[in-house]
Amino acid sequence: RHVPEDIATLLSMTQPLKLRGFQKWDVFCEAVHNMMTNPLLPADGRGVMVALRPAPGLRVEQAVTLCRPNRTGDIMTIGENRLVLFLSFCRINDLDTALNHIFPLPTGDVFSNRMVWFEDKQITSEILQMQAVKPERWTTPLPITAGPETVMNVEHDGRSWRRIPEPIRLAESHGEQAS
Ligand code: C2E
Ligand code: C2E
Repeated sequence: RHVPEDIATLLSMTQPLKLRGFQKWDVFCEAVHNMMTNPLLPADGRGVMVALRPAPGLRVEQAVTLCRPNRTGDIMTIGENRLVLFLSFCRINDLDTALNHIFPLPTGDVFSNRMVWFEDKQITSEILQMQAVKPERWTTPLPITAGPETVMNVEHDGRSWRRIPEPIRLAESHGEQAS
């Protein structure tokens, strides 16, 4: 039986579980790789990884603004014109349930193609390929993604993206002043 001697090593292995949301490409790869090699997590039950290619006309940095993971341990990154999402402890049969929790729109409307990996071996081999991708091919998110969680007031009406107007109340008729 393998007993780690260094408690710091042990703690650092659980660290990726505390991440959530957008991560830089290399940080994402490192986090998923750490989870795959973490002996404390259940083999082949560590999570599901999914790569999504945006529908034509939509950029991956736009698509990622619609990706809003709630669960700690759910992380994503963008590069090579795809969004890669890792859903910790999600089971393959629950993938659509999880994606429905994470995206405010049906993912079929936003993405035209998806690839899924759910066994440790598959995930690890995909991560190794991702780690070989040069930084020039990583995509920088729009500033909105990096900031605090912002709700974007846009909607896809089936054909195009529309802004949803926000009502603004002008001064009251009895002369109330905006402060
Ligand atoms: P968390 O795992 O970081 O999840 C944060 C929030 O994401 C949850 O807030 C919930 O709104 C959403 N969420 C995460 N996973 C799921 C899911 O499988 N289904 C649904 N419908 N929503 C999900 P919430 O409910 O206030 O929970 C706060 C924290 O309490 C969670 O943080 C988690 O640490 C813990 N927790 C709550 N319920 C459960 C549970 O059934 N099992 C476990 N293991 N932890 C739970
Ligand atoms: P559910 O909401 O129908 O989710 C079913 C399964 O989908 C979850 O099984 C999980 O494998 C996956 N899943 C759903 N949402 C997410 C997500 O945001 N991220 C990830 N990584 N996976 C997700 P699980 O974890 O065994 O949970 C079973 C049920 O327990 C959930 O059914 C939900 O009703 C409840 N639950 C679990 N965690 C939470 C939580 O944090 N908050 C709340 N409110 N409920 C939770």
